[in-house]
This record gives sequence, C-alpha cells and structure tokens, in this order.
Amino acid sequence: FSAAATTLILIPLARLRASFLTLGRSLSSSRRLFGRSMASESVTRFDFLVIGGGSGGLAGARRAAELGATAAVIESHKLGGTCVSKNRPAPVMWNTSTHAEYLHDHEDYGFEEAKAHFNWQLIKRKRDAYVSRLNQIYLNNLDKAKIESIHGYARFTDDPEPTVEVNGKKYTALHILIATGGHPSTVSENDVPGASLGIISDGFFELESCPKRSVIAGAGYIAVEMAGILSTLGSKTSIIIRQGGVLRNFDALISSNCTKELQNHGIDLRKNTQVRSVQKTDKGLSVTLVTIDPDDKDAQEKYNTIHEVDCLLWAIGREPNTSGLNLSSIGVKLDEKGHIVVDEFQNTTRAGVYAVGDVCGRALLTPVAIAAGRKLAHRLFEGKADSKINYNNIPTVVFSHPPIGTVGLTEDEAIKTWGKDNVKVYTTSFTPMYYAITTRKSQCIMKLVCAGQNEKVVGLHMQGFGCDEMLQGFAVAVNMGATKEDFDRTIAIHPTSSEELVTLR
Ligand SMILES: Cc1cc2nc3c(=O)[nH]c(=O)nc-3n(C[C@H](O)[C@H](O)[C@H](O)COP(=O)(O)OP(=O)(O)OC[C@H]3O[C@@H](n4cnc5c(N)ncnc54)[C@H](O)[C@@H]3O)c2cc1C
Repeated sequence: FSAAATTLILIPLARLRASFLTLGRSLSSSRRLFGRSMASESVTRFDFLVIGGGSGGLAGARRAAELGATAAVIESHKLGGTCVSKNRPAPVMWNTSTHAEYLHDHEDYGFEEAKAHFNWQLIKRKRDAYVSRLNQIYLNNLDKAKIESIHGYARFTDDPEPTVEVNGKKYTALHILIATGGHPSTVSENDVPGASLGIISDGFFELESCPKRSVIAGAGYIAVEMAGILSTLGSKTSIIIRQGGVLRNFDALISSNCTKELQNHGIDLRKNTQVRSVQKTDKGLSVTLVTIDPDDKDAQEKYNTIHEVDCLLWAIGREPNTSGLNLSSIGVKLDEKGHIVVDEFQNTTRAGVYAVGDVCGRALLTPVAIAAGRKLAHRLFEGKADSKINYNNIPTVVFSHPPIGTVGLTEDEAIKTWGKDNVKVYTTSFTPMYYAITTRKSQCIMKLVCAGQNEKVVGLHMQGFGCDEMLQGFAVAVNMGATKEDFDRTIAIHPTSSEELVTLR
C-alpha cells in the first residue's frame, strides 16, 4: 500500500476493532492481530495511548496491557509521577519527623541520655535513592508488560482524529487517556513582590539542609504536613493562613483541632494573614505580612515582618496540567479552573478520549487515580460496561502531628443531606495510652456522624496517635453501610485508641 491508502484503510479497521474490543476478553487474540503493526507511515497506532506516566496513567496502561491491549505511555519527566517524586518522599520525611518526636519520649520510657544528632543530608540521600529505584522499577514494569514507553511532552495536533505529537512524531489510538496530573499553584510577582524568592512543594524535596527559619503560606493538607515536618525537625516555623483555621474543607472538629495542634507543637500560626511582599537580604528573606481582623469592620491592616527566613514555602493549592495539551483542538471541555470535565465513567466530551486522576480535579489522591485508571481499562478492554469508581466514602489521611484520618460526610454535609433532626453525632477526646507515662502529651479526638433512624455511620473523623493506620478498616465498615449498632456490637480491642470508636456513647 501507499501511505495514503494505508491511512484510508486504517480508519474503518480501527472502528471495526473498537466494536470487537467491547466484546470481552475472549477476543483478545483478535486485538493483537490489529495491534501495533498497524502503523501508517507517519502515525503510530495503539489500542490505548496514555498521556502521563503517573499513578493513574501507569495503572490504566498496565491493566489494559494485561487485558490484551497494545498500549503506550508518554511521560515528559520521570515515570511514577507526583506519587513517586512527591508523596513517597513526604511520608519518608513524616517518618523522620516522627522519630524526632519519639526522641523526646525516650527518657520517659527509660532510655536515659538518648540524645541524637539529626543528619538531614543522610535522609535526603536515602530518600532520593529510594525514589530513583522506584522510577527504574516503573520503567521495568512497563517493559515487562510490553507497554511502549515514550519520553517527551505530548500535545494534541489539529488532525481530525485525536492524535498526539511527541518530539515531532505522531501517535494515535482507539482510546486515548489523559492522566497528566497537576502542579503547585504559584503567586505572581504582581500580586506579591518577591514571591518568586519562595519555593513550592517540589522545592521542599530539594532542600539540602533543614532550614533554621521557615514560613509556610497555605492552609491545606500539604501546608499542614510540611509545617509539621519542618517544625518537628527543628526549624522555627510560621504558618500563614488567610482565615481562622487550617483544613477548612474537613469536618469542623478536625479543622479546629488541627489548628490547635499546630500551635501546641510550637508552630507560630498567623490567622487572617497574607504575605504582602518578600525581600532578599544578606541574612535571608524578609517576609512582610498583612493581617486584618475579619470580625472588626473598622479594623486597620496590621503589618508585620518575619526576618532571616531561609525557607518560604508556597503551599496554596494545585492546578491541572492541561494548558499545554491543545485540548480545544479536539473538543475536550475544561471547567473554569482548567480541569478536564468527565462523566462518572471518565469520558471527556470527545468520544474515545478519557481522563483520570488529578487532572479531573476530584479527590486528588494516588489510590483514586489508580482505581479510576484500572476501572477504565476494564470497561474499554474487557467489556465491563459498568466499570467505574465510586467517589463516595474515600478514606483520607493527613500526615500531620498527630495524623488525621477521615472518611465520609462531615457533620455539616450530613446535616445538609439528611436534615439536622436526622443526624446524630458522637464525639470523644482522650489521651492515648502511649502518653500515660510521657511528659509530652497529645490528645486523640474522634467523631462519628450517624444519619437516619438506624444511625448509619456516614462519617468518621479523627486525629491522634495511630489514626493513620486505624482508618482503613473502619473505612471498609463505612463503605459497607455499617450502623452505630454494628460498631457497638464489635468487641473492643483493649488497650488501644481504636476501641474508643466501638464504645462511643
Ligand atoms: C506533596 C504531596 C503529597 C501528597 N501526598 C499524598 C498522600 O499522602 N497520599 C495520596 O494518596 N496522595 C498524595 N498526593 C497526591 C497524589 O500524588 C496525586 O493525587 C497523584 O499522584 C495523582 O496521580 P495522577 O496520575 O493524576 O498524576 P501524576 O502522578 O501527577 O502524574 C502525571 C504525570 O503526567 C506527566 N505529564 C504532564 N503533562 C504531560 C504531557 N503533556 N506529556 C507527557 N507527560 C505529561 C507528569 O510529568 C506526571 O509524571 C500528594 C501530592 C503532593 C504534591
């Protein structure tokens, strides 16, 4: 065939294959027949083309390949995405800071003179080596699964059929998945002069030493986690929040308790405050803040400067990686914040083009992106027409000090859904047994949100020692529709913190 003839024949064959693919696994041999060999001179064709080698993209591609599809993953940076390069290092640093906390308790537990010198460079070296190993493992996994790995930045072309260009080469597929994730928001120099002297969460993992004086702007979970890590490892830390508390989209009890815990940990928390300007001096950064009391209509702006700051971290949210993809050329709709609009099956507004993970702006978590990628692969390549993820009751942990675990509706959300009279809330607050003999104390707080006559548990929120590991099992119960009575019927494990959840009155 001439190249032109090949292209002409490819289109109807591709359509034919699309209907085969929905017929299920038994046709996998037919899929291979029409696999990668079907390349025109200028466009390489796959069953499944994934843009973004992060959590969602890799999971979707691997599951598709297991189901017999020919697949390729395009990645502009390193395989593994944000999960490997950011949220794996974050728990390593959280574990490191937890060690620093335990050191304070060693003498209380009989380990006398247990002083230790902390070596930031050592943990950074080990953490970076761990991340590099993971990047290599992801590459090997793609090779093993016979998934083509394409290195470079992908952009849709103006061709009539959705087609992607990477380094001057064109690729297309029956099904194209966009899993390009997001990046940290930044502040413009126009809004805050000197803003670019600060770093974003990516820069945190490049710090070569523990900053002596840190300022973190932001009130979300990344700001809370980074503030906890820095402060516990010995950096004098200020956290700058625009309103009265951190984690404002969490249950009110968690938001207020976490705000209090940050202060208990010696973090200087500035409420109703914003960074106004940043200046570089020979002793570090001078960060000027402006505070205004929201409850006082006549309040004047108050200015304050924190001097000798060696780490200013902007943790003010994340934005989707969509601007460079040329999505308008293929008719993929974005919302006002640039996230890709998808339906419950991860379909975009263009047939044959899908999106999963952070780029869709909903439940920005690794396991959510992974589950969505896998479910999509089962739908497209195994004929499971109903395969989709359930966005309700997604358990979430914040690696604060102490950690937070939460699943289901907040009390306010439950009241909005069920009405005030149909919602009953149980709370408790206690000192975990670990602290019974320590000088350092930390409380554990818990809340069960129950709804309806049978008191179905629709929300569970807690902060305290061990709550990170405690949550997963309880999330299973909540997902199964457990009631307060089911919790009460379960015999407690004594002496643990988790027993409090099954003995609430
Ligand atoms: C500091 C931090 C801590 C976190 N902690 C947790 C946690 O504890 N638990 C948790 O569940 N989640 C956590 N998250 C969130 C989690 O990392 C994300 O939800 C998850 O990685 C999203 O996966 P994704 O596949 O959507 O995107 P990503 O993993 O971000 O992958 C997207 C990939 O696409 C690539 N890409 C983008 N554009 C293009 C293009 N045009 N061409 C080619 N490649 C492209 C990027 O380079 C990237 O590798 C954390 C995030 C951050 C920043």
